[in-house]
Amino acid sequence: MSQTAVPFLPFVRPEIDEDTIQGVAEVLRSGWITTGPQNQRFEAALSEYFGGRPVRTFNSGTCTLEIGLRIAGVGPGDEVITTPASWVSTSNVILETGATPVFVDIDPLTRNIDLELVERAITPRTKAIIPVYLAGLPVDMDRLYAIAHAHKLRVIEDAAQALGSTWRGKRIGAIGDLVSFSFHANKNLTSIEGGALVLNDEDEATLAQKYRLQGITRTGFDGMDCDVLGGKFNLTDVAARVGLGQLPHLARFTDTRRALARAYFAAFDGGAAVKRGIGLPVADFEHGNWHMFQITLPLDALSITRGEFMARMKEHGIGTGVHYPAIHLFSLYRALGFREGMFPHAERYGASTVTLPLFTQMTEHDVARVVDATNQICEQYGK
Ligand SMILES: *Cc1c(COP(=O)(O)O)cnc(C)c1O
Repeated sequence: MSQTAVPFLPFVRPEIDEDTIQGVAEVLRSGWITTGPQNQRFEAALSEYFGGRPVRTFNSGTCTLEIGLRIAGVGPGDEVITTPASWVSTSNVILETGATPVFVDIDPLTRNIDLELVERAITPRTKAIIPVYLAGLPVDMDRLYAIAHAHKLRVIEDAAQALGSTWRGKRIGAIGDLVSFSFHANKNLTSIEGGALVLNDEDEATLAQKYRLQGITRTGFDGMDCDVLGGKFNLTDVAARVGLGQLPHLARFTDTRRALARAYFAAFDGGAAVKRGIGLPVADFEHGNWHMFQITLPLDALSITRGEFMARMKEHGIGTGVHYPAIHLFSLYRALGFREGMFPHAERYGASTVTLPLFTQMTEHDVARVVDATNQICEQYGK
């Protein structure tokens, strides 16, 4: 019998159902394809999901975060405390407002911002904190908000990866100050590109709407004014329809991801990769949504680089990713004075992390394949 080729396993792939594809076709035929009724439905559905809090959608997670900062009143002269272990947009948006990003290191176990260090970094100029929930794992929300309240700081949660995550049984987004999500194609729920901001009240929602579309306010057909500097950040109805089609599946998506993460832990247990010092994520099955399953490579114990490891995985038919190199070591940030050695945990994580395949249409058999390949490569290239 001839051997059948094993299909390539990407590290992520969105799951879009036929009903959504049909729904998108209907939107395209409807004559109204940009922001309109689908967007209103999407915002209403999200608001219901977040316990009735106001929600506004945007065309990326990045601009959602930036508008969150503007609503919090962050601007030139202010400091915003955040983590260097994130996608670069987390701190680029701070620079966009004219404020100063203040990085603090991560807790090497959770890979999230270290709240002890946050407290120590607060100065009279600190205006806000942007925590990031890497791989969907929230920080200690009680502690975070105790710090914010004690120092009268705003919190703009970068919950880009955390839709479906919870804290003590409450949904991320249903609690907290300003909460920003992304619906990029790789996130747990996608609208192709997009984002949503959960707000505190209708005044903030009105302001969010202004920032979303050129700062314009309309009163009837005759009256139009522009009183804040807004941009062009609205979500199309095609995108909103994709997002709407995903929402009914979100609970299943999260359950499937949790089951696959459990399968990863079971498959890695006692194997060559773990013996050689590979780092696994925290096994938290209560709070996180398992947006990613990330290992850290024991680069000192291997004779290959991370890039070579990923190339070997590709030869095994397995896609992997890197999320994320430490932000403060990018040229833009070095030019602001950041250097190696400032945030050693984030640097080690950024240099050695590899994101393994994890998506809803994967099987436990696929997980076994990924772990077998990882074990083999660690054996083959162990020093
Ligand atoms: C995806 C992501 C963003 C940005 O979202 P976009 O929709 O790609 O603009 C920001 N922060 C984190 C942590 C992310 O994962």
